[in-house]
Amino acid sequence: MQNQEQLLNSISEKITIANISNLDNVRQLRGCFAEKLFQAEKKVLRCYGFYVLPTVKAYSFRSNKRAGQCRYSKNLIEINTKFLKIPSHIDYVINQTLLHEYAHLLNWHLHRDELLSMKRIPHHGKTWRQCMRFLGLEANTYHNMKLPLCKDVLHYTRNEVL
Ligand SMILES: [Zn+2]
Repeated sequence: MQNQEQLLNSISEKITIANISNLDNVRQLRGCFAEKLFQAEKKVLRCYGFYVLPTVKAYSFRSNKRAGQCRYSKNLIEINTKFLKIPSHIDYVINQTLLHEYAHLLNWHLHRDELLSMKRIPHHGKTWRQCMRFLGLEANTYHNMKLPLCKDVLHYTRNEVL
């Protein structure tokens, strides 16, 4: 069992943020991501007895709509920095998008065999929604952030799982 500081460090070490040039901003964002995940990991440990400890990579996606995605097999969360560059969206990305993707990985850790046994993996199915509620969030699969110069008229766009 790691102590709290070691846990926070291990979480922090797994976070990389690219495509943001201001180093102070990068440091601050990493700190916010780490703190958010730290709270989630403590909850998961208390209830399930393990850590998810995802690798988090934030970079600029080609997509102007997708805020985040995750890869089960790599225990990886990817966050679109295009949204992190908009000050009014930062809170949402940290409090919703990051945990949305974390919930996917938690769901995978808890229900992997069950999910794999299904014909088509229900990424936003019942067990994922339970994970979202466990983390204190509503199980939204869409976000309504928009990039300023984006021509896209869709208001609701998805967080994806690959
Ligand atoms: Zn999702």
